[in-house]
Amino acid sequence: MKKSIVFVCVLMASGSAYSGAKSHWGYSGHEGPESWAKLSADNFACSGKNQSPINLTGFVESGLSPIEFDYKQGGNEILNNGHTVQVNYEAGSSIKVDGQTFNLLQFHFHAPSENHIDGKSYPMEAHLVHADKDGNLAVVAVMFDKGEANKGLQQAWAEMPGHTGDKNQLSKAVSVDDILPENRDFYRFNGSLTTPPCSEGVRWLVMKEAMSASGQQIDAFANILQEPNNRPIQAVNARVILK
Ligand SMILES: [Zn+2]
Repeated sequence: MKKSIVFVCVLMASGSAYSGAKSHWGYSGHEGPESWAKLSADNFACSGKNQSPINLTGFVESGLSPIEFDYKQGGNEILNNGHTVQVNYEAGSSIKVDGQTFNLLQFHFHAPSENHIDGKSYPMEAHLVHADKDGNLAVVAVMFDKGEANKGLQQAWAEMPGHTGDKNQLSKAVSVDDILPENRDFYRFNGSLTTPPCSEGVRWLVMKEAMSASGQQIDAFANILQEPNNRPIQAVNARVILK
């Protein structure tokens, strides 16, 4: 068993009612995505009808209200949990969606991207995980194309922990604003956590404009994880994707 740690990624900082899966899981073999729903009774949602990631396409024009971002410089800790590399955020940064405030808990990465846009997979995707006071989740996703080095990633990347279970205090707090595109137009759909327990009812807000990261930056992240950490595309079923 290659990845044998208790998964706490999305859930660790949330302080919400989500209990998290206590099972081991991974991205290949017996513990791969096809088996997640069977690995633990807690993972029943992994076989649900509103799962993430998806291929975003067939958009419905709907005049979405802009997301109100209120991000401070608050990313102060970086950890490697064996499934991703994650920057934990101190309280005080949030977004407003549907008139509700969702506090930023952490952001983490997947390579290659989990969501696709109009059939296109990107070399990397960031997930900015937020929760409201009742534990409802909203994830802002940012795609990365290979190109110029990303300055916003530089500091976190320099202090990225090489081994599973390692955690580093960042020498200077980072701002997630630095990895968001200038144009904040987005697609929206209802989905789930992309990792066990795959809980549904997650608001997905996918930035239309991709950022760039150098091949070296993308490889540095991918090499630390040793295997791609993208769950395969899930069926859209009855959902609509708004733009
Ligand atoms: Zn994620």
